Parts: sequence; structure tokens; C-alpha cells
Amino acid sequence: MRSHYCGELREEHIGEDVTLMGWVHRRRDHGGVIFLDVRDREGISQVVFDPDREESFKLADSVRSEFVIELRGTVRARPDGTLNKDMSTGGIEVLGKELIILNKAETPPFQLDDHQQVGEDVRLRHRYIDLRRPEIQNKLRFRSKVTSALRTYLDGHGFLDIETPILTRATPEGARDYLVPSRTHEGSFFALPQSPQLFKQLLMVSGFDRYYQIAKCFRDEDLRADRQPEFTQVDIEASFMNEEEIMGMAEEMIRGVFQNLMNVDLGEFPRMPYAEAMRRFGSDKPDLRISMELVDVADLMATVDFKVFAGPAKDPKGRVAALKVPGGAVLTRKQIDDYTKFVSIYGARGLAWIKVNALEDGVEGLQSPIVKFLGEDVSLQIMQRLGAKNGDIVFFGADSAKIVSEAIGALRIKVAEDLGLIEREWAPLWVVDFPMFEETGKGGLTALHHPFTAPSCSVDELKSSPETALSRAYDMVLNGTELGGGSIRIHDQAMQKVVFKILGIEDEEAQEKFGFLLNALKYGAPPHGGLAFGLDRLVMLMTGSDSIREVIAFPKTQSASCMLTDAPGEVSAAQLHELNIRLRKTP
Ligand code: ASP
Repeated sequence: MRSHYCGELREEHIGEDVTLMGWVHRRRDHGGVIFLDVRDREGISQVVFDPDREESFKLADSVRSEFVIELRGTVRARPDGTLNKDMSTGGIEVLGKELIILNKAETPPFQLDDHQQVGEDVRLRHRYIDLRRPEIQNKLRFRSKVTSALRTYLDGHGFLDIETPILTRATPEGARDYLVPSRTHEGSFFALPQSPQLFKQLLMVSGFDRYYQIAKCFRDEDLRADRQPEFTQVDIEASFMNEEEIMGMAEEMIRGVFQNLMNVDLGEFPRMPYAEAMRRFGSDKPDLRISMELVDVADLMATVDFKVFAGPAKDPKGRVAALKVPGGAVLTRKQIDDYTKFVSIYGARGLAWIKVNALEDGVEGLQSPIVKFLGEDVSLQIMQRLGAKNGDIVFFGADSAKIVSEAIGALRIKVAEDLGLIEREWAPLWVVDFPMFEETGKGGLTALHHPFTAPSCSVDELKSSPETALSRAYDMVLNGTELGGGSIRIHDQAMQKVVFKILGIEDEEAQEKFGFLLNALKYGAPPHGGLAFGLDRLVMLMTGSDSIREVIAFPKTQSASCMLTDAPGEVSAAQLHELNIRLRKTP
């Protein structure tokens, strides 16, 4: 057994005989003396082998990077002038006496220090080596601390950790299901849970009162953004609590984790209604580290002789919004063209702009391809409304409200990143008062959260105007990322049926898909609600990582495959036969 981890040795161990086990991080031959940097999960120690111990010296000379070794030696102070202040073990070294090679290693596909030189696919294929990098090790250790802190909070507040099934029926959260064929029930399939939503609600009906689970969820989505087909939620549900109480508790939990693990005080989280978030920031997860806001100018544009603006300005579903970027007049034509391309991803057909060069010269001081269409009055009125100053640039979006909010909302963040306009390190908030439904685009309605979210109105009000009904849902947002979300649930069967109906799920289908829930609601379902946090995203934000893949031990690629195991893979004809599956020949 080891006596110490390599990374633990300090000056206080000088004179002690130690046994270390680990990997050869680097081997250096310094004129007849061999230096081995030996690494384990706690760090690296330098071990020196002198030629006077012939046998171990020879072995030390023979080892290569990533060999696994055991060694015995004595800790001593590093000679003057060789101290390494950048290493926690930099004040000492170990004089190696005995060396055993526990296992050899072939030359690894990349050196840990040079991981950036190889593509992510190579690293993912050899993930077990990539995971040896101290940076990733630290991230996964931090993740473990986060889950432990969350558990401590929840355990301490009476939440019970209860597991729910992985092989189950569809739980709609807006994505496609991963399906698993049943061998024993020909032609039938399990769905992997998109979340434990329905089971946690049933646990409330069963009287467990407070539940949590660090739960794997599965969503078959087109992986545009930084998503994973399987990811981890901290899933929480409680009975007899209203939204204020649930939000209060969740906020206290997250604040505590930041305080304890990072010494960061997130303060009290402000609340913002969904409509306000969309209006001011063009997003339901506004990044409040940036103070720029979208400003509506449709009233000023409705009369201009310029259809691109006047059209959406007069359309009740349209929007014309301006974004003033302080100091943005420095942007070059090329940069503006790049932003035009950027907003086109969100469906915007162009990006109008006005550079404010010299306001004191009136419209003459505005540089823009559109001022001539807007006319002097409107141009100056807009400048006034925005409080524009010399040196600013103003961008405009004019289209359907959805496109303008998304495009200019995203531009706001992109420009802020590019021009260094992010003003704070952390900006949490709650977004509340979401609409119950949104339009599907095919004439129907779909649930903005999920179909089990309670409306904040009565059954009758919901029936008469579902489009304007608000829900009792809440999202926790941090730095423009949705950390978690949830709602008070429907606990009344009649209300649940109405919501299904509005969503176009007729009684028969509702009974077939969600009969177990509808039945449970008949037998004494308490008022309840909850939420779920995306653990991967939380850890990503806390560790300042660029992608959730950096905080997941074995992540999948953007195309939802595992480079390491080559999953998904083909299966044998015999297995398919057993499952009664015949594959359609691909042309
Ligand atoms: N089940 C929800 C989700 O996965 C969270 C919740 O409503 O508790 O987004």
C-alpha cells in the first residue's frame, strides 16, 4: 500500500521514508541522474534515482511515460536553486531507493500536456487517458463535491433519495424518446425517461412528501447546442409547498453550494416575468451580467416609408427593436457583416444599423444606410429614446416578434462578449409567469414547460383563453444559462384532462398514455410541485468550462455517439430475431 499520495508530500515530510504508486508523468536524464515525475490523482512528486543504486537506477532509466510504478524512497529538501514554486510539492523531492514496474504502457496517443494538439475525437476515443489530465480530474472531483453538497442540503431538509425506473413509458419533456424493444412483449417498447417527472409526482401521491434523485435523463434531440443525449438532473419534488417556498428552498441550496465550494455570494435572486425578459433581453434566460437592453421602437417605425420596418411595426405579431451598443461605432464593416450573418442563424433577414458619430450635428452626424429611409425626425427620436451617445452603434431587428427577440437577444450577448461588455461575474435570477402554452406553428398549442404544469388560473379561465393563460412555472437562470426549472403541478384530475385536451390529446389517448397519472390524481393527490437542476450545466458554470463534455466523464459526441465504445453499435441477427425486429434495408 502507498504511504502517501504523490501530490500530498510537503516539507513537513522531509526525512520520512515513503511508498508511492502512480504513473510516470515525465522522465528526464540529467547527466547520469534520472528524474521521474510521478503522478497520481493528488498531484506530482519528483523522484530522483542516483546511479549508486544500480538496480533501481537501471529500472528508472527504462521506464517510459505512463508506466505504472511503485517506489520507495526518502523525502528530502530540493537543493537550493531547484525549488519549483508552481508545484505544491515543489519544495521537496524523493530520493528513490526501490522501484517496481507494476505495468508498462505503450506510447500514448498524446502526451497529457499536449492534449490540445490532438482533435477531440482522438481524446474521446482514449478518454481514459484524457481523464488523467489534472485539469479534468479536478473538474470531476469538483463535480463530486457539488453532488455531495446538494445531497447534504436535501438530506438535511427531509428530502428522501428515491430511485425511479429507467425502463418506462414516455415522459414528455419536448424531445424524442429513446426506445428499448421488449423481448417479452412482442412489438412493444419501453421509453427511457426524459425526466422522472411522472414518477416523482406519483411519489407525492404516495405521501413521501419530499423526494430527490440525482437522475439520468434521456432525450433524443438534434444536438445543435451543447447538449448530451443522456444527462444528469438533480430532480426534486415536494408536497404542500407553494412556488414561493420551493423557489426559496432551491435558491438557498444553490446559494449555499456557491458559498461553500467557491466562496461566492450570489445574493438574493431577482424575479422577472417571462414577458419582461423577452421584451428587455429577447430571451427567457436573460444574461443579466450585460446591461444592454432591447428597446421597442415599433411605434416610431409604423409611419416610416420603409416596408422592412413599417410592416412588422404594424403587425400585431411583429416586433421592431433596437439595441444600443455603447462604444460600438468602432465596429468595422467586416464585423457588422459578420453580425449580419450571425443573426441570420436566427432567421433575421438583415441587420440594420446606425453609427452615432456626432449627435450635435443632428441627422448629419448619424452614419447609416437606413437613415435616409427613416427620415430625420424618426432617426433623432430613436436616438433620444435610446439615450444614444457619440461613439455608439444601434442595431435594429424588424420581423416576427419571435425572430427579432431571438436574433437581437443573441446578438446582445455576442456583441457583449466581443466588446468586453460583460460587467459582472455572476448574475442569477428567477424567470416566472411563463405562458402555459406556445403555438406549434401548425395551428395547435404545445406546453411551454410540460403538460403537468399547473396554470395560475381556474379551469374555466383556462378553457376560454388558453393562449394567454400563465403557468405556475419558474426557471432559475445563471449568466444566461437555464440552471433549473420546475413548477407547481396539476393535482386535480379535471384540470389535467382540460390541459390534455387543449394540447390536442383526446380522452382515449390520454387514458392510454397517462391513465396511471389520471387515476392517481383520483385517489388523494396532494398539492405538489418541484423542479430539476441540470447538474452538468451547473458544474460547467462553476468550473468555468466551455462545454458540458468537460465535466462528464464519458460524454457523447455532437452526433450522439460514444467514440470510446463505438456505441451505438450493430447487433447480431440472433438478437434482432429474439426481439422480433426486422431491419428495413437501407437503399
Ligand atoms: N421535469 C422537469 C424537467 O425535466 C423539471 C420539473 O418540472 O421538475 O425539465
